[in-house]
Amino acid sequence: SASGKGQKRPRQEDTKGVTATKSADFATWYTQVITRSEMVEYYDVSGCYILRPWSFSIWQQVSRWLDDKIQALGVQNAYFPCFVSQEALRTEEEHLEDFAPEVAWVTKSGTSDLTKPIAIRPTSETIMYPAFAKWIRSYRDLPLQLNQWTNVVRWEFKQPTPFLRTREFLWQEGHTAHATEEEASDVVRTALELYAQAYTDLLALPVIKGVKSSEERFAGSVYTETLEGFIPATGRGIQAATSHYLGQNFARMFGIRFEDVSGHKHFVHQTCWGFTTRCIGIMIMVHGDDKGLVLPPFVAPTQVILIPIPARKDGAGVEARCAELATALKDRGIRCEVDARQTYSPGWKFNWWEMKGVPIRLEVGPKDMAQGTCRLVRRFDGSKQDVDQSQLATLIPAELDYIHAAMLEKATTQRDEGIATVTRWDEVMPTLQQKKLILAPWCESAASEAEIKSRTKEVAPEAAAAGENASILTGAMKSLCIPLTQGPMPPGTKCFVTGEPAKRWALFGRSY
Ligand code: AMP
Repeated sequence: SASGKGQKRPRQEDTKGVTATKSADFATWYTQVITRSEMVEYYDVSGCYILRPWSFSIWQQVSRWLDDKIQALGVQNAYFPCFVSQEALRTEEEHLEDFAPEVAWVTKSGTSDLTKPIAIRPTSETIMYPAFAKWIRSYRDLPLQLNQWTNVVRWEFKQPTPFLRTREFLWQEGHTAHATEEEASDVVRTALELYAQAYTDLLALPVIKGVKSSEERFAGSVYTETLEGFIPATGRGIQAATSHYLGQNFARMFGIRFEDVSGHKHFVHQTCWGFTTRCIGIMIMVHGDDKGLVLPPFVAPTQVILIPIPARKDGAGVEARCAELATALKDRGIRCEVDARQTYSPGWKFNWWEMKGVPIRLEVGPKDMAQGTCRLVRRFDGSKQDVDQSQLATLIPAELDYIHAAMLEKATTQRDEGIATVTRWDEVMPTLQQKKLILAPWCESAASEAEIKSRTKEVAPEAAAAGENASILTGAMKSLCIPLTQGPMPPGTKCFVTGEPAKRWALFGRSY
């Protein structure tokens, strides 16, 4: 609760607002926003961060929503250990090869060395699939569809960024096994659609659905479907969630076979898909402004903050009215608080809740008491209106819908403006320097993918000179995805890199 009389005035540093601007010094801005709004506390293990209630509650909003949808698909929740033996981890070689550099190992207990080191899960295929092999015998055991909500550890060597790239992160990982490829690929697509819905319907963020190039796909998968987000302030793409078709690769390695109706044995077809705390970082980076967080209404821990503006003589009246209004809103299922702290001025409270990103502020002053009105201020555009107190219970839900839609529209427009269609290589660098992603006709060869990276690498210093911390962000461009929705490609269109015949339009960019 935001109320609580007689609380001590916090120390000076605790009350600091956001001073860096998003456009001039994005990295400092992000750090100030997440710490001063009380989302994150830094920690003394590099790449790990404390998620304070203000951010963890957002994660819970998203995860509860997703969990319901996942259950509705007939997927069941389970929990597997966080440790994995060396043998199991080695079973799928391609998978291990990709993850090996990032795997953290436990080598000691107390002062004695373990006989065999034990890895901490970077992802759980090699933990879950030996059990799948035990549980699946016949077609009657299929589909086997499990999900777990856990932490995973990836000792990333790229510079960490809170939420976006952390060494320990929270996620949901779904793992399913099916009799047919068709059924499995349906699940891959369904999970992707679900993730896209979470981004648009909860976080008010547009995403592009696509498939990864063969170089960028998940290690050990047949293909990877992906959602790609866009951070306008840096012009970078970000992989927002992924859904993989594993084919029979893991089934072969772990011996996951089933007997069909006529007694023939087959390897199962598998999927896995994951959604992480990264989504919170994308939300902050896209929606935030120079005053701090701007939270989309459906995930905001507090959707409406009521601020009493006491008259000199009668302070109790406005407070009591605020409490009544809050009760009425809570009855409507709206997450609403009254900030009745006596030690802060109303102006201080306005700034505080603006920095925290609360979507709607309601101010109730002496004049409002007389007129039965209150002032409603929207966080995302700062617009103000006077509304009847008696209308609030019907008005606020509509306002939240409106704000969500307007935030999504704004982010979508920015995203659309941030993608340029490019057909010739000489347009690539100027476009990247304008902080845009590139949609280009591509031959999809592995050689061209390597060529793209090496040709664009040298611009990293320029990015640094433009005010970005080059160590955080690599300068090279890479393929983000081949969008599922393809525009027309006139016959004879050439690849923008190699000049070979182009196969499809693909999205490229610098990325996180
Ligand atoms: P993967 O299992 O590699 O497909 O990862 C699943 C999803 O996790 C990716 O699509 C990213 O959105 C997200 N992700 C990957 N690495 C990190 C990280 N270090 N911190 C937070 N999220 C991550």
